Amino acid sequence: VEDNRVKLPNGIGLVKFRKSQDIIGTIKNVTISKKSGHWYVSFGCERELGEKPVHPATSAIGLDMGITKLLTTSNGTYIKPKNSFKANQLKLAKLQRQLSKKVTFSQNWKKHNRKIQKLHSHIANIRHDYLHKVTTSISKNHAMIACEDLKVANMSKSAGGSAAQHGRNVKAKSGLNKSILDQGWGMMVDMLEYKQQWRGGLLIKVNPRYTSQTCFECKHIAKDNRQTQAKFECVKC
Ligand SMILES: [Zn+2]
Repeated sequence: VEDNRVKLPNGIGLVKFRKSQDIIGTIKNVTISKKSGHWYVSFGCERELGEKPVHPATSAIGLDMGITKLLTTSNGTYIKPKNSFKANQLKLAKLQRQLSKKVTFSQNWKKHNRKIQKLHSHIANIRHDYLHKVTTSISKNHAMIACEDLKVANMSKSAGGSAAQHGRNVKAKSGLNKSILDQGWGMMVDMLEYKQQWRGGLLIKVNPRYTSQTCFECKHIAKDNRQTQAKFECVKC
């Protein structure tokens, strides 16, 4: 890298780029990618860290991830989701309808298709930005974070099957998956994980199985412990 130019191998040579942040450490690899007509270059760097970071906060927080509330914290506060997809869904549907009326691969079709790609990336950028803001704020304020171990990847996969296989659950499931993916729960947990590592904090992923049915006092697990969603009463103790 020389100033705002990067020398790429395989006869490509010097290419101008906009440096969005300083490159610290030794460059180990370079990735070139193209998203919605824009080219991006990212550098994977290596550097030695001095002392292990110690998280400035001393508090712990538990997070519950949901659909209508993106996050509910153990402090009793919650964060609303940013449904960037839903907000832009009508716009996207309209563009896609218009595209279907154009002659495939014609100049007009290509132009229109680029518009759609641009909207897709706009939606993704909004979501990404929002999740970064949310996770940075939580990670800054809490040394220990506990959240559900969602295995989002598995949940998304299960709705991919045929309608015959899953019966009438497919529609409901894919609707749920759309919401999950829209909010990017998996992305959020990843962000929390590495942000905690940077600051010397801790992220604990808890297996959500039976957590709502387990008694805090005697650890007895029973469905009857929770007669309603809001009321918990251990049947044993
Ligand atoms: Zn009990």
